[in-house]
Amino acid sequence: MTTALFSHSASQLHDPGIHHPESPHRFEAIMRALSEPVFDELDRRESPEIGREKLHWAHTEEHVSEIMRAIPATGYVALDGDTVVCKHSGEAALRAAGGICAAVDAVMNKDVDNAFCLSRPPGHHAERHRAMGFCLFCNPALGAYQARYEHGVERVAVIDFDVHHGNGTQDILWDDPNMFYGSSHESPLFPGTGSVGETGVANNILNCPLPSGGGSYEFRKAMDDYIFPAVQSFKPGLIIVSAGFDAHREDPLASINLEDEDFGWVSRRIVELADELCERRLVSILEGGYNTDALARSVALHVMALMNATD
Ligand SMILES: [Zn+2]
Repeated sequence: MTTALFSHSASQLHDPGIHHPESPHRFEAIMRALSEPVFDELDRRESPEIGREKLHWAHTEEHVSEIMRAIPATGYVALDGDTVVCKHSGEAALRAAGGICAAVDAVMNKDVDNAFCLSRPPGHHAERHRAMGFCLFCNPALGAYQARYEHGVERVAVIDFDVHHGNGTQDILWDDPNMFYGSSHESPLFPGTGSVGETGVANNILNCPLPSGGGSYEFRKAMDDYIFPAVQSFKPGLIIVSAGFDAHREDPLASINLEDEDFGWVSRRIVELADELCERRLVSILEGGYNTDALARSVALHVMALMNATD
């Protein structure tokens, strides 16, 4: 298997302020973990900036202009209580969105089997009209539209195992019967969406809320009994993963008790699904994960699964 790693130093420069959980240390910790010899075979590539016109696949003109206008020359600007930008955040967000589009290109062109995008800021809370929950642009939805509009992929499935519901991805894909969004997430928890009754325009949204205190059993059951069979029925031409690692038991922002190995398990299962359904075409992008040690270990297992590597 050839796996690409898309990233850019701008991801590390995006700084939402001291004590913010979505910190540049997350990027550093993951990069350190991915410098181990087992990752020597990664095809490391630089994330380009997305063309502004492509942002409108997922966002209103007003939203895009507001974000870019808000970027300060110095200091910090809070877009809401959680979502803060500094002078590097515009470039970081454009490269996070551009990275997933370039990863989709690499996979669709068969340059590589699959790809992981090590990006900040994350994306799955950004709705069509607004930034939210540390997210500026909805990277997974933009990747899905890159596959449709640049490569003619009819159906794209997004699997989101971040502990928070991806309200932004759901919002953007809701009306599109050829886009599937499946999420496991703790409930009740920020952002408050993601009930089983939210099913999209054509049952193309599948939410699997997990109870606070749940762990490996509940998570694996949600995936095996609901999300994976739904993806199989949907028959996507590409799978995109919103890879958040904040369902880890050591994570400070939530109360699901996954172990490192649960992330290895879910990643291997998604690789198998991509193998079965869409000629291995799989693009994953970083979302949350706020204990940097647990995050780095879990991302390492995720990327090893993409590479089909073992310890
Ligand atoms: Zn999260």
